[in-house]
Amino acid sequence: MNEITNRFLELFYKLSQIPRESGKEKRFADFLEEFAKENHLEYYRDTNNNVLIKKMGNKINNEPIILQAHMDMVCVKRENSKHDFDIDPIEIVRNGDVISAKDTSLGADQGIGLAMMLFILESRKIKHPDIECLFTTEEETTFHGAENFDYSKIKGKKLVNIDHAKDDSIVIGCDADICNQYIFEGKHITTNMPAYRITISGVEGGNSGWEIERSSKNAIMILAKIIQKLLEEKKVYICEFSGGNSENDIATSCECIIKTDMKDIENKIKSNIEEKNICIQIDEIDNEMSFSFEDSKKIVEEIIDLKQGLITNKNNIITSGNIGKIETINDKIVITGILRSIEENELQEQNNENKLISKKNNFQIKEIYQDSAWIPNVNSKLKEIYTNVYYQVNGKHPDLEITHGGLECSCIAKRIKGLDMISIGSIIKDFHTVNERMYISSCEKTIKTLLAFLECENH
Ligand SMILES: [Zn+2]
Repeated sequence: MNEITNRFLELFYKLSQIPRESGKEKRFADFLEEFAKENHLEYYRDTNNNVLIKKMGNKINNEPIILQAHMDMVCVKRENSKHDFDIDPIEIVRNGDVISAKDTSLGADQGIGLAMMLFILESRKIKHPDIECLFTTEEETTFHGAENFDYSKIKGKKLVNIDHAKDDSIVIGCDADICNQYIFEGKHITTNMPAYRITISGVEGGNSGWEIERSSKNAIMILAKIIQKLLEEKKVYICEFSGGNSENDIATSCECIIKTDMKDIENKIKSNIEEKNICIQIDEIDNEMSFSFEDSKKIVEEIIDLKQGLITNKNNIITSGNIGKIETINDKIVITGILRSIEENELQEQNNENKLISKKNNFQIKEIYQDSAWIPNVNSKLKEIYTNVYYQVNGKHPDLEITHGGLECSCIAKRIKGLDMISIGSIIKDFHTVNERMYISSCEKTIKTLLAFLECENH
C-alpha cells in the first residue's frame, strides 16, 4: 500500500468516528469546519450544515473543479447490536483488502468520497486546479442539503460527484423518481379473538435502485403474502403493520399483528412460506383493537398490488418500484414507496397506475418528492477528459452508465447554469445493509485516477 492510500484510510477511519446519520450531521459539519481552519482553507457553512471548502489551485490551467459527496449515512445494525448511532463511532473491521463494520452499516457510502476530498484538500504534494469541495447533508433521505445550498458561493462549472459504487464505470445520467405515501384511514374495532404478532426478519436488503430484483421480495411484501394466504381461509383482522426504514431501502424485517380464531396458525404460516433463509416468528399476544375484516383485506391488497421490483424494461430503459416502509399510526396505515425511470413519461404512467390501485383500495396518495432525471449530455467535455485520463491510468476505458439509484447531480445541475458533471466512485457492496463493505484496492484505483484527472492540464 502506498503513502496516499495509507493517508486516505487514516482519514476514512477518522471520519468514521463521528456519528453522521441523515438529519444529524451537525457534529460532522463541526468536524469539517475544524478541518478547514486547521488547514487554513476558506470555507462556508450554511444552516442546513452543508459545508463548502475551497482550495487554491497550483497549476497553469486553473478552471475550478467541484468535488461533491454527501456526509450522511444510512444507519442500520444487527438485531442484537447495542450500537447507538447518536454517539458511538463505527467500529471498522479490516480483513485483507476488505473493510466492513462490526454489526452496523459501514458508511463507505459515502465516507469514501469524503475521505478522498479531505485527502485532496489537505495534501501539499498534489497538482490541481482550484478545488471547491461541497459536502452535502440528508442525501439518504430528502436531498434537503443539496436542494437548499446557495450555489452562488460556487464558481466551477464542472462537477465530479463521488457517490458511485463501482470503479469500472462512470455515471453520466440518472433516473427520475417519485416518492409517495399511500395512506389508509380506517377505524379500529374491538374483536374478540386471539392476537398474534408475526415477525419476518433476515430478508436480503440493499438499495432498491441497485438491487431491483430483490425489491419485489422485500419483507413487507413477503408478510403481506402470508396474510393474504390466511385471508383466503378464514377471517383475519389486521391490528398493526410496520417495517422497513425508507423508500430507498429494501425492507429486511417487518411485523404484523393480527387477530384470528384460526387454529394451528404457526404451522399454517410456516408451511406456506416459499422464501428460504428468512426468519419467521409467531407469538401470541394481548391486543384488543383491529381494523375491520374488509379494511384488512384492502391493506393487504394495496401492498401486493403497488408496483414493485422491475416494472418494465423497454430497450434497457428500466422502470422500477419499491415499497420501503410501512407504519401504523393510530388507525392509519402509511406506506412509503418510490418509483424510478429515466423516461419521465413512463414514470408518470406507472405513477398513475399506482394512483388507480390506491383508489380501488381506498388509499389516499400524498406526494413526498419528485426528482427529475439527469439526462446524459452527449457533448460533455468533462466526461471526455475523465474517460481519457481513466484510460491512461488503467489501460482501459470505463463503462458509461446511467444509474437507477438517485444521485444529487440532477438536483445540483438545476441550480448551476451550464454545469457539466459525472459521478465516480469505488466498489461498495451491499451498501445500506449491515454487510456493507469496501475494497482498499478499488479505492486506490479511484484515487489514482482522480488525482491524475486533477493534474491533467486539459480542463
Ligand atoms: Zn450515497
